[in-house]
Amino acid sequence: MNCPYCGGQDARVIDSRGLDEAVRRRRKCLVCGARFTTYERIEPHDIFVIKKDGRREEFSRDKLAMGIRKACEKRPLPTGAVDELIDNIEAGIYEAGRREVSSSYIGDLVMGGLKALDHIAYIRFASVYRKFADIGVLKQEVDSLAVRCESPPRNQLPLPSSEVVDSGAARRGG
Ligand SMILES: [Zn+2]
Repeated sequence: MNCPYCGGQDARVIDSRGLDEAVRRRRKCLVCGARFTTYERIEPHDIFVIKKDGRREEFSRDKLAMGIRKACEKRPLPTGAVDELIDNIEAGIYEAGRREVSSSYIGDLVMGGLKALDHIAYIRFASVYRKFADIGVLKQEVDSLAVRCESPPRNQLPLPSSEVVDSGAARRGG
């Protein structure tokens, strides 16, 4: 572990503390005297996702990110907001501490995150994930959002937008 200040290779551990899923170590560089912190984590792999049809596949952050990015496409979100959401959801999955999680567990985490971030992105994701049977169910969901949310995220477009309705119709047709 090289010192981040001088690049020295000789650092002493001066404090060590176990966190839930990491060990935090305070180190002191024996070359320049600087103190810095390192975290030792369990390598995040070996989590399997159980799909609705019973198939298992290894959890993939890339796949998670792809679904979220698609839902957030062209939405006027602050820089970094989508990455932060992906990070939070990934962390939530690892924090569950299980070797297997259901795809619906992940879906619910994404839905919760998107609902707080952007309603259009939420509806887009939900329409795919929940496969809204008809536009009436989608409308109910939109209405309940409007009621629950006193201060919608900034730049919120009116709901339901033609964009959402179109993508739902296209999906049912295909
Ligand atoms: Zn140093």
